[in-house]
Amino acid sequence: MSYLVLARKCRPQVFEEVLGQGHVTRTLQNALKTNRTAHAYLFSGPRGVGKTTVARILAKALNCQEGPTPVPCNRCVSCQEITQGISLDVQEIDGASNRGIDDIRELRESIKYLPARSRYKIYIIDEVHMLTGEAFNALLKTLEEPPRHALFIFATTELNKVPLTIYSRCQVFHFRRVALNAVVDHLKTLCAREGVEADERALRLIAKQAEGSVRDSLSLLDQILAFSPEEITEEKVQEILGFVDRRIINDTAWAVLENDGKRLLSRIAEVYEFGYDLKQFLRDLVDYLRNLLLIQLDAGEGSPADFTPEELAEMREKAGKVSPEVLEEVLHFLVRAEGELRRAPQPRLALEMTLLRAARIKEFVPVEEVLERLERTKEASSDNGKGKTSSFSAPPQVREEEPFYSNPSPSPRIARPEFEGEREGSSKGDPFPREKFLEFVRSRYLPLAAYLSHGVPRWAEDNLLEWDFREEPFQLRLLEANGNQKKLEDLVREFFRREIRVVCLGEDKKAAKANKKSDLPSPRGKRLSIQTVLTQPQIKDLIDIFQAEVAEIRLPQER
Ligand SMILES: [Zn+2]
Repeated sequence: MSYLVLARKCRPQVFEEVLGQGHVTRTLQNALKTNRTAHAYLFSGPRGVGKTTVARILAKALNCQEGPTPVPCNRCVSCQEITQGISLDVQEIDGASNRGIDDIRELRESIKYLPARSRYKIYIIDEVHMLTGEAFNALLKTLEEPPRHALFIFATTELNKVPLTIYSRCQVFHFRRVALNAVVDHLKTLCAREGVEADERALRLIAKQAEGSVRDSLSLLDQILAFSPEEITEEKVQEILGFVDRRIINDTAWAVLENDGKRLLSRIAEVYEFGYDLKQFLRDLVDYLRNLLLIQLDAGEGSPADFTPEELAEMREKAGKVSPEVLEEVLHFLVRAEGELRRAPQPRLALEMTLLRAARIKEFVPVEEVLERLERTKEASSDNGKGKTSSFSAPPQVREEEPFYSNPSPSPRIARPEFEGEREGSSKGDPFPREKFLEFVRSRYLPLAAYLSHGVPRWAEDNLLEWDFREEPFQLRLLEANGNQKKLEDLVREFFRREIRVVCLGEDKKAAKANKKSDLPSPRGKRLSIQTVLTQPQIKDLIDIFQAEVAEIRLPQER
């Protein structure tokens, strides 16, 4: 069975064959060339990226009968014994299972003796961080005064657990995860050499699952070859490794982004029936969306590695259909949902709810856009020559040609004088400095300024200010609702620096003036009809912007 030997067969035997760790192997080869090797090395990095492989090649390079050499011959007795793992002078110790003080004592005994027939006695200690404190102390003594013929190579996946005293006596090399494309190329070469037909998508799937670990990618390849020795296809890999078809993931992601609930549910049903792990499915979705975001952020050359060029082209084309804000929101939401799904007693239901909710994120328009639209409405209303606008993003002015109350006979309008008064304009004879005062209120409490801008202020007496809302009594209700009247009085006092009483004129007077027509809106406390509310321009704007409907009318004081 060829598959069993495959992983072992392709273990690198010289530095040049090691995948993706050039920064380590070049330095080691230079040291070998110039005869300046250290007495202790520490290799750190994720599992399966070549730490022990490089350690063995280094051992060979040092003990090769033609060495020390940057390129071990792999033919001499020493090289061959190391390859077979039977060299007396190269000991491999698993730190996880030989972690006690006795193991290290044994090591310290044997290290005294000269190598049996090589140049060096070499100790490769894997997972060195697993040693006990006592063992580390014993090891440290050896490291402080190592015999000339001894050399240590430590390997660890958890550098932070290696004591500083050990670390500081070693030359440290950091091994990296191997880039996905490099792993794919490696697998391709291997398959070609073994005469196996392999689909590139299939190899990418394997490499992706291995997460930068060459060893993992090889054992996955072995696993797949065991079932399918002649040919490796994407479907086979998905089936054997229990992956869900990537097209389903992509389509589900787009069902979320396009808020297509029906498609979403049928995709989840498919995945569920397939028996796929729903948590993994959610992670795959997050992965896809993240890649989509990466493509959006860098429309140029940079691209996520685990896609074929065709898939990338498709994603680039589609990426423009969704705004980065929406994408970010959806991603953020799904990442948070991952934890909840893990605890959910009914994962399928939880996943359905989660994705349906994520799909609705698209309905929320970005805030900037809302503000921009409001600004535009406002400009439009000021272009009509009615009302004043400011640079503040207060709610749009109510247009006078659309009064909140529709009277059969229009009531006489109250003229709105353009107050240009100064701050001193504070007595009955002076016009009220409306704009300045509103600006002042805006700086203190924006909502109040918005309400006030719909009314007309005037001095009734030196110490009595009238704010006339008879044209737009609805605004007065809003103003009165939240204790704003008190705020208004405080601000007036602060602005004019004296005691001034403020009276707001509302609908009652107007109603009286209008002879209590029966089609007038109901007095305060009773419900307004939807039709009445719909004529309010601000409400119209909201309906426009949010595509909203009026479901219920509640006045602020009813809250
Ligand atoms: Zn050799």
